[in-house]
Amino acid sequence: MNSFGWYGALVALEFGLAAATAVALLWIKAPYGRYLRGGWGPTVPARVGWVVMESPAVVVFIAVFLFGSHRTDLVALVLLAMWLCHYVYRDVLYPALMRPGGRMPWLVVALAMAFNVLNATVNAWWIADLGGYADSWLTDPRFLAGAVLFFAGLAVHARSDRTLRRLRAPGETGYRIPYGGAFRWVSSPNYSGEIVQWFGWALATWSPAGLAFAVYTTANLAPRAIDHHAWYHERFPDYPTDRRALVPHLL
Ligand code: NDP
Repeated sequence: MNSFGWYGALVALEFGLAAATAVALLWIKAPYGRYLRGGWGPTVPARVGWVVMESPAVVVFIAVFLFGSHRTDLVALVLLAMWLCHYVYRDVLYPALMRPGGRMPWLVVALAMAFNVLNATVNAWWIADLGGYADSWLTDPRFLAGAVLFFAGLAVHARSDRTLRRLRAPGETGYRIPYGGAFRWVSSPNYSGEIVQWFGWALATWSPAGLAFAVYTTANLAPRAIDHHAWYHERFPDYPTDRRALVPHLL
């Protein structure tokens, strides 16, 4: 099999994982955060878990990138910078800022790491090697629209992460109703923003790997957003009734 054949097989695997994840999450709530419960093996502080499980998205991505035949091309470097904008936030800033005290199972960390190795490999392989973008790609409407969606999604999810973080005083572990920003419309704008961001990436890279990641993110986060929404309604009788789970006015 040539490089495109191997790449296609790995991307197909990622689409398969997206389907399997969506089906599994119909029955199982991913056991971290508010759904942490016994029976999932040993746990680790959540802050450590986030750093460890997201680290392949930085380390593996850069390693694969450095082997790419187009690694010094302008477009590849711009896309690398976009990727790192997100993952330096997710792997370094987000865990550094989060309230200490939470824990997550090692199993969740291991599964997320394995996914990140696969996802970083196919995305870096495409942008630094197989994609072979001309410089003119930076003025293509697909790149421009994708970049706008990418950064708008990043802004929404980072701002929503901050709103959630500020709901707790130091040492607190309980939950409150979040208000403000995109919480006006949906219960999990951190997830809505992240999904928009990766569809923006898919458009800006115009790649099978980018699309696979956007689909996987949706398969992973949409069921969790629906569970969060129901969870809020069960616990808070005064929960805003005009708020949706993930998509304003629709879902
Ligand atoms: P959650 O919304 O479940 O929790 C985010 C943080 O906010 C946690 O520290 C949580 O505490 C706290 N929190 C949430 N709701 C409340 C509330 N009502 N009151 C007080 N504190 C609250 O998000 P996740 O942990 O699932 O995800 C975190 C980020 O990672 C998101 O931005 C998400 O988009 C991203 N992500 C991306 C994935 C992908 O596939 N691309 C997969 C998973 C996450 P606690 O932990 O105690 O519940």
